Amino acid sequence: MKRALFPGSFDPITLGHYDIILRGIKLFDEVVVAIGINSEKKYMFSLEQRKDFIEKAFKNHPQVKVVTYEGLTIDFCKKIDAQFILRGLRNPADFEFEKAIAHTNRKLSKIETVFLLTSSKTSFISSSIVRDVIRNHGDYTQLVPDSVKL
Ligand code: ADP
Repeated sequence: MKRALFPGSFDPITLGHYDIILRGIKLFDEVVVAIGINSEKKYMFSLEQRKDFIEKAFKNHPQVKVVTYEGLTIDFCKKIDAQFILRGLRNPADFEFEKAIAHTNRKLSKIETVFLLTSSKTSFISSSIVRDVIRNHGDYTQLVPDSVKL
């Protein structure tokens, strides 16, 4: 069984994440969306809300699982027997950042990172911009799956 972990904060899930996950399940038998817990980070949405938004968005896709985890991503991959890490790439900044992490993960484990290029329709979307729109009472609904509700 080919299992990929899609790690991130998902604060909240956006149509950019949604697109990568939908394309990911065409490549893998299972995509595990893994919400990383970082006690030093401040989030707009609670862990439960973030998990609920993703679960509802994929309620008709049994190949998508949603979990939370702490610690190193590669350790969690080993724990759940995920052979791949799935990541999205939007721009050169994402590439440079992801390259260093993927090389480190490859040095520390056998886990392969697979990158999908963002779709043109969603390439500009980030959770931080969505949070800014929400804070300033803008129409965030065009940027996120319908399951994301305030
Ligand atoms: P982090 O907290 O690690 O930045 P995010 O939740 O923002 O995590 O993102 C998780 C993954 O989703 C990353 O690989 C990121 O590049 C990808 N991603 C985020 N937004 C988009 C988008 N609009 N298109 C494609 N990939 C995206």
